[in-house]
Amino acid sequence: MSHDPIAGAFAAHDGVLHCESVPLPAIAERFGTPTYVYSRAALLAGYRAYADALAGRSALVCYAMKANSNLTVLDLLARAGSGFDIVSGGELARVLAVGGDPRKVVFSGVGKSEAEIAQALAVGILCFNIESVPELEVVERVAQRLGKRAPISVRVNPDVDPKTHPYISTGLKNNKFGVAYADVPALYRRAAASAHLEVVGIDFHIGSQITEVAPYLEAAERLLDVVDALARDGIGLHHIDFGGGVGIRYRDETPPPVGELIAALLARVDARGHGGKTILFEPGRSIAGPAGTLLTRVQYVKHGEAKNFAIVDAAMNDLARPAMYQAWMPVHPVAPSAHEIALYDIVGPVCESSDWLARERALALAPGDLLAIGGAGAYGMSMASNYNSRPRAAEVMVDGERCYEVRRRELVEELFAGESVLPTGSA
Ligand SMILES: *Cc1c(COP(=O)(O)O)cnc(C)c1O
Repeated sequence: MSHDPIAGAFAAHDGVLHCESVPLPAIAERFGTPTYVYSRAALLAGYRAYADALAGRSALVCYAMKANSNLTVLDLLARAGSGFDIVSGGELARVLAVGGDPRKVVFSGVGKSEAEIAQALAVGILCFNIESVPELEVVERVAQRLGKRAPISVRVNPDVDPKTHPYISTGLKNNKFGVAYADVPALYRRAAASAHLEVVGIDFHIGSQITEVAPYLEAAERLLDVVDALARDGIGLHHIDFGGGVGIRYRDETPPPVGELIAALLARVDARGHGGKTILFEPGRSIAGPAGTLLTRVQYVKHGEAKNFAIVDAAMNDLARPAMYQAWMPVHPVAPSAHEIALYDIVGPVCESSDWLARERALALAPGDLLAIGGAGAYGMSMASNYNSRPRAAEVMVDGERCYEVRRRELVEELFAGESVLPTGSA
């Protein structure tokens, strides 16, 4: 079990799985299930891996908050010095709600609306990561209307294969993300000539769950080629943003340690004479992922003709990654069991065949048993939905021996609070 992402903050003592010093059965007892459980120490350790590797540099870690945008997660990271990578006006509102510094916010995404751009300009974010020519034009127009200069960076599509799942690779020619490599210089010239745009940086994000350094370095070299070409055109940049961070270990992946990736990248940056520029990263998964687990209880055990099913109280609406990307996530019994070991598919109550959380796991199970699904701190709760009119799970943050409910379980009435029926008399 030592290879497991939850082994650090989530370890068994006397056979019972704990988060830091709190036994998971106590959390299930107090807050019910399904519940997301986070370790404060693991979250901050995830952030510090980046901050430490960048120590002594002009640098900023912008946590990609779509991975997990709970206010407590944001508050802890903001107080540790983190900036934020946002992809919507809603995410910006969350940063502001915890008193986060807008000047540490980068705004990514291919479909920023005019209202979102205006909102970000009004509070003064660090920069807009521009994904297309039409977007640049809209940002310019909104800035002009508000009498502002919009700080911009162009998201370069370096056309390298990150060797990850196709749904989470973003830096290939056929992805919707970024500006085609050949079109980048013209876009910068266009921006540099505008009175309402200020060129401040350049960025890429080649994909998520990257487990190899090589594609990252290849993309970085291509990015630095652009930086050099722009300098020859008289366009200087203040920062270089290397996008999301490394992948995490769900099963047997061997992602490079954060420090190793950053050292390799910084060596290239320095060798090519750009050591004076500010360095940004936008990691999400590697900060929040290992810090969380989804606690769920077995409701029924069903021995079918071809398969055994353990039907648990968490489902695809709580944790979408398996249904969405066929993601493999570790499943741990929370306490020892006297039952016989069998191969189980762990499934939820939602009426879809894609509602599974894990397949063919050897486990000793009985109704009432608790399971912990590891590596669930990122892209877990933030992707949760209300499908099947299921209220979203509670979230609990553990700090040593204490635990705090940082989001209470949603109430059923809240699900339809904004709905109404047609007035009486309408046909
Ligand atoms: C999702 C995203 C990230 C974070 O990726 P992780 O793999 O979670 O670290 C960073 N930058 C952008 C633009 C993203 O869309």
